[in-house]
Amino acid sequence: MHKIGIDLGGTKIEGILLDDSLNTVQRVRIQTPKENYHEIVNQISSLVTDLSKNINEFTVGICTPGAISKKTGLLKNSNTQCLIGMPLKEDLQEQLDKKIMIENDANCFAISEANLGCAKNYSVVFGVIMGTGVGGGIVIDGKIHHGRTNIAGEWGHHTLHQNGNHCYCGKQGCVETYISGPALEKNWEDLTGIKESLPDIIKSENPKFGQWREEFLDNFGTGLANVIDILDPDVIVLGGGLSNIDFLYSDGIKNVYEKVFSDLVDTPILKNSLGDSAGVFGAALLN
Ligand SMILES: [Zn+2]
Repeated sequence: MHKIGIDLGGTKIEGILLDDSLNTVQRVRIQTPKENYHEIVNQISSLVTDLSKNINEFTVGICTPGAISKKTGLLKNSNTQCLIGMPLKEDLQEQLDKKIMIENDANCFAISEANLGCAKNYSVVFGVIMGTGVGGGIVIDGKIHHGRTNIAGEWGHHTLHQNGNHCYCGKQGCVETYISGPALEKNWEDLTGIKESLPDIIKSENPKFGQWREEFLDNFGTGLANVIDILDPDVIVLGGGLSNIDFLYSDGIKNVYEKVFSDLVDTPILKNSLGDSAGVFGAALLN
């Protein structure tokens, strides 16, 4: 059976067609219509129609920002605002006259790295996305672990600091408000008075860099040590823009290990191997 995966991003929609040996047959990219829900639904359907024109049987999986609420079936927590509260799955199923699967980007990331990427030989995989937001997904023996209410793995909104930074989710002190890209840039600005992007901060020779880096590592360490304490995964894979920061794989890992509640900790913390393609491959692997 062929597999179609669609990665719905804020700026682009990517589609892929895989054959039954998971080889790529076709791959397409289009621009995401700006904040227009119905246009987004139409574009995804025509992408699926296009990719499936020469095949008979196929599955369709969609990777979206945000998650589908188990309570309402509607999309929530999405940073593409026009998708929030919309029945994307239902609308697409109606338009395509076909059952589809839909998952958030962190779950798609985790399932693709677990099946096709650097976590291939591990049973319990914790996939981390650190970028504009902080997300996570759990894959056990190749399958996504959703949890009772579909929230499993969402470590980005567990509390790091009581009464800490305000988060858009309504709580205070969430991981995301400390170690997402925008949060780290804001912390840099607060410390130095200079507005710089993360790639520039990483290279900075500003005397405040040490303090900024230490706070970052401390929060990264506590956040992931909490995950290890609760889930004890066989591997942690980092994805998103921040996964390119080299010191996370040296001092970052050290910091995590120091905070884990165990005298033995050797959890591999790896850089993803699929890069930007994780979303679209992950979508294709859903079924
Ligand atoms: Zn939050």
